[in-house]
Amino acid sequence: MTDAPIPVFDGHNDTLLRLWQRRDADGGAAAFLDGGVGGHIDLPKARQGGLFGGLFAIFTPSQQLGVDYIRMMREASYDVPLPGPLPLGDAQAATLGMAATLFRVERASDGAVAVCRRVADILAAKERGAFATVLHIEGAEAIGADLDALHVLHAAGLRSLGPVWSRPNVFGHGAPFRFPASPDIGPGLTDAGKALVRECDALKIVVDLSHLNEAGFWDVAATSRAPLVATHSNAHAVTPHARNLTDAQLDAIAERDGLVGLNFASCFLREDGRMRADTPLDDMARHLDHLIGRLGEDRVGFGSDFDGAIVPAALGDAAGLPRLIAALRAHGFDDATLEKLAWRNWMGVLERVWGG
Ligand code: ZN
Repeated sequence: MTDAPIPVFDGHNDTLLRLWQRRDADGGAAAFLDGGVGGHIDLPKARQGGLFGGLFAIFTPSQQLGVDYIRMMREASYDVPLPGPLPLGDAQAATLGMAATLFRVERASDGAVAVCRRVADILAAKERGAFATVLHIEGAEAIGADLDALHVLHAAGLRSLGPVWSRPNVFGHGAPFRFPASPDIGPGLTDAGKALVRECDALKIVVDLSHLNEAGFWDVAATSRAPLVATHSNAHAVTPHARNLTDAQLDAIAERDGLVGLNFASCFLREDGRMRADTPLDDMARHLDHLIGRLGEDRVGFGSDFDGAIVPAALGDAAGLPRLIAALRAHGFDDATLEKLAWRNWMGVLERVWGG
């Protein structure tokens, strides 16, 4: 047993949305680099907690969906009404804004933050003590059915994409915030969605399964040849939330040598599905036990949902990651397993999808 901090690479956060919504003149660069303005992830908190990087999501919010859905999920059961499709122009403007936020942070960081396009970039950043970010899109509303924007975004650095957030779009339908509920709700991918998945395969962009409903999940499994990845989802057998993955889905991810990132959002962790901060870290260990039981210890990582959800107060924010590691160590995970869960498995699956 050692007290040395275990480095963490995280599969999902909404930090770019938080920074972009500040409307700072510098695009949020100082807010990220200097911290001190709240939120779950900034550079000082990341350094304190051993977080050396992660997938940074671009998520365009719907106007009518604010704090309310988080509040609704505090109840014993819920079915949050989802907003309708977003106009392409609104989504493109927001997407450019959040991508620019990341590039402004990188530029202002003077080498302390890197936008990474290959696993070698991430490892090189880790080696020199820099923070490694990967550009991800959660909900592809900024991309039209012609897929033109996909190519532009890929050239800018996009390496991971979820075809849908939970609301419907031209590519498919998502899993609603419903508890308790099966993820088998609604139709799956449209023809445009299948074309998007094939193009992501060709460009070696990760196709994120996390917000798809079950029909969409199986459509991706049948359309893509890549490892199946759910960046921030938990086990439905432990918490029967529509956003969590059934054992059949987990088995398919195992078969395709993919990965599931443990979501720290309390509503996906607790047996009662409530979004509450007083959630014990042991609930995270129980999900990891189940995920590892189905996927093996090489196909499970972290997908925090930091800056996008209410996480256990015992964890707090990125600076609290050593407390999670300590709780998992106390639960019985040895250091070799913890290293895999905390970052090595993410490197493995990104290598399998992206190539060298
Ligand atoms: Zn999400």
